[in-house]
Amino acid sequence: MTWCCLNGEIMPIEQAAISPMDRGFLFGDGVYEVMVQIDGHIRANSLHEARLQSSLDAIGLSVSVADVFADVVRLTKKTGLLNAKIYVQVTRGASPVRDHGFPSQISPTVFLTITEFEAITKKPVKAIVCPDIRWRCNSIKSVSLLGNVLLLQEARESGAQEAILYRDDLVTEASTSNVFLIRGQSLTTPPLSDLILPGITRHLVIEMAPTVGLDVVEEAIRVDSLPGADGLFVSSSTRGLMPIVELDPGGLVGNGQLTEAFVALQAAYDERLHYHE
Ligand code: PLP
Repeated sequence: MTWCCLNGEIMPIEQAAISPMDRGFLFGDGVYEVMVQIDGHIRANSLHEARLQSSLDAIGLSVSVADVFADVVRLTKKTGLLNAKIYVQVTRGASPVRDHGFPSQISPTVFLTITEFEAITKKPVKAIVCPDIRWRCNSIKSVSLLGNVLLLQEARESGAQEAILYRDDLVTEASTSNVFLIRGQSLTTPPLSDLILPGITRHLVIEMAPTVGLDVVEEAIRVDSLPGADGLFVSSSTRGLMPIVELDPGGLVGNGQLTEAFVALQAAYDERLHYHE
């Protein structure tokens, strides 16, 4: 049975019902978080709490993040899952009248789901490279994901697993992850801005990289420099560190093989997942 928590009430997912007037459904008016629980501990819990708070602040929605995370704990206990993927969706709720403007009475919808998660080391994959067609406020973890959905679908239809995106010839991120490029012992990732999501995995990678001898540089990456890198990978909570060895267009990244630096970083990340602060 799949359990969820809707507005504080834990129930089988089949019993959960949300109004068709919910602004998440009508306007994509809401934010979300996704996190992984490993060995019964949520990875980087406080970073997820802080990011949810920041997304809520950015859309002017007042919800107690502490209460949401208390529900997360109750839901994980109910399922007994030790390794799990948890989604938190918070929308501005339903109002009787359809109007773009915020309703005067707001009763947010808070919806949590949990499913089993297996942290597996990701195999090398191919990515398409395409213009970033999304809006310009990507640091907000918005439930309005149509741009990301279309881009990932385009990747899949091209036989690839991810879409690496660029604006004005500079890499932003990927459709569901952040981008890192390896040159020798240097690890480069685009700096935080409103054009990318401040990924929690990105944060952990930047923290860990020096432990495997990589120097981190947060600076712009020209899209035409991608194939000439020694290595390329994307990061996300659910995909971990996923190496990209082929680009379309662009061909092989470096010699199309995993670099030693990446293998060391991926091993360090896998270990980090089982270290609970
Ligand atoms: N960028 C985008 C567009 C994403 O959707 C995600 C994950 O959902 C990420 C980056 C990676 O974020 P995190 O490492 O917090 O999962």
